[in-house]
Amino acid sequence: MKVTIIAHTPEPEKVAAAAARLCYSKISATKIMDNFSQEKAATFIKKLMDMGHMSPTEHVSFTFAIDGVSRTLLAQITRHRIASYSVQSLRYNNPFDAEISKSVDSDELESEYISYLEGFALSCKLSGNSAAKNQHLIDKFNICGLMPQDVKNLHITSYLRGVFDGAGLISDDENYSLAFPMELKSVFDAVHFNITREGEKLLIQKALDFGLYIYENMDFVKSLYDEEKLIALCEKDSALSKQILVLMQDFIETKYYAMAPESIAASPKTLLTYIKGLDACKKCYIDLVRMGIDQEDARYILPHGTQTRIVMTMNVRSLYNFFNLRCCERAQTEIRQLANLMLAEVKKIAPGLFETAGAPCEALGYCPEGDMGCGKYPPYHG
Ligand SMILES: Cc1cc2nc3c(=O)[nH]c(=O)nc-3n(C[C@H](O)[C@H](O)[C@H](O)COP(=O)(O)OP(=O)(O)OC[C@H]3O[C@@H](n4cnc5c(N)ncnc54)[C@H](O)[C@@H]3O)c2cc1C
Repeated sequence: MKVTIIAHTPEPEKVAAAAARLCYSKISATKIMDNFSQEKAATFIKKLMDMGHMSPTEHVSFTFAIDGVSRTLLAQITRHRIASYSVQSLRYNNPFDAEISKSVDSDELESEYISYLEGFALSCKLSGNSAAKNQHLIDKFNICGLMPQDVKNLHITSYLRGVFDGAGLISDDENYSLAFPMELKSVFDAVHFNITREGEKLLIQKALDFGLYIYENMDFVKSLYDEEKLIALCEKDSALSKQILVLMQDFIETKYYAMAPESIAASPKTLLTYIKGLDACKKCYIDLVRMGIDQEDARYILPHGTQTRIVMTMNVRSLYNFFNLRCCERAQTEIRQLANLMLAEVKKIAPGLFETAGAPCEALGYCPEGDMGCGKYPPYHG
């Protein structure tokens, strides 16, 4: 999410102060503007805000460019009627244009699959683990479990991912999180991966490095990997989990032109489920467009998490109402984040005008939401 103020009323505090002063003055607003110093305007604004005399602030407006927000947020923000909006259209902007005209490069994918399966089959064979999970693919691609140097067009990260899925052990030891059976030593020697030996195990001290190596450029939908093992490794290693969450969110943004809400983006497990839903919607959308359905109708299948861009103009009085409702902890996370970013930006330009803007409790010292409040301030019961 990105917020930029692309335009605003020049000298905002002087304009609002001059408009208010005009009500009690014999001279024109032009002259009042000329006579007002910045300091005098600021003092006047403070008086105005303390009195709750808000209508002069309607003469000052801010225009925001808002990028990287969901269409869920769009539905919420446009409920604020005292504002002007322009919104990036899915009718004219198809986020998947390139993929509609081009099919996936199946050669590249096949070499990844084969490398993964060779690593998987070999590690199962050497460790005595069952390869049943991928047996149908092993048969389909005539996989025999080759050492890395013998795999044609080796895709090393996929190969090692296969090795991890076939025989990697997620350890309970607090000093390390990843281990392999000793039988796999020749494999790690061949790929020159830094590994230490302890008893009957090969230990990987830095699961973060190994995890990033095998998952970094992976397609979370098309690539072969054991989802449960990825989740288990992330649960064991919080540093890796953080990085994987970033990778997944980048993937969601670039592949689905979508974003995930904070609660879903908090765990690899929920994000993977979310990705599956996004993928099903995208597939259906592309199929419909290929069948000749107009984008404006095909988009019905795209999720609320699909991104959009907004230009919004609001005057200060309306912004006060917006910040009041949307900086509150009761507001949904994404729009709350946006409101807080917007508030920080307007405060840089007109601190006096926005001194008391924000969630109502901050100015009141109690929560007007009563028992529905977040607990930061005591509830008000009337
Ligand atoms: C936590 C939260 C939960 C919400 N849940 C829901 C929900 O479940 N369902 C739902 O439909 N909405 C929901 N909303 C949206 C909410 O009802 C408002 O539509 C939205 O916040 C816009 O507020 P507003 O009308 O004050 O803003 P604006 O439309 O910008 O109006 C600003 C002010 O102008 C005045 N005004 C504007 N239009 C009129 C009018 N026609 N007549 C009289 N006065 C007017 C009012 O004083 C209003 O406060 C929710 C909002 C929040 C913050």
